[in-house]
Order: sequence, then C-alpha cells, then structure tokens
Amino acid sequence: MSQKKDRERFLALRHQNPDYKGFRGYENDPSKTGNTPLVAVNCSVCGKKRNVAVGIAEEKGDNYVCITCEAERESAASKA
Ligand SMILES: [Zn+2]
Repeated sequence: MSQKKDRERFLALRHQNPDYKGFRGYENDPSKTGNTPLVAVNCSVCGKKRNVAVGIAEEKGDNYVCITCEAERESAASKA
C-alpha cells in the first residue's frame, strides 16, 4: 500500500486548498453526522474556535485539539 504517498498528497492538497477535506480521520467529523448537537470549543493548540460534537467537547475539555492541529502533529511525528 502507499499510505505515505497518500498522506503526502493529502498534505499537499490541503496546503493548496485549506478547505480540502481529505480522505482519512474524518469519519468522526461532526459536520457529517447531521443530527449531533455541536458546541464551540477553543482548540488548545491553535486557539481557534471549532464546532465539535458535545460528546467530544465533554471528553476532551480544555485539551481539545482540532482536526487541523491533530493532522499536523501526526505529520510532524511521522517525520521525526
Ligand atoms: Zn487547532
């Protein structure tokens, strides 16, 4: 398989288009669940306000990390 290439392609596409939704790790995207109540939470890394499912907000609390920061952290870790 070529997961590494896929990841590189994803990062390249996202770099070109910040709205690109990618192909992995978005199964839990609350915007796709339709009827999940959302709540605004500030990402603990970038500080931006994100709408996340209530359950995720309660679970993560002040340690919530948004999808973007999580992806970048994974990307950085994979290069280390
Ligand atoms: Zn963030």
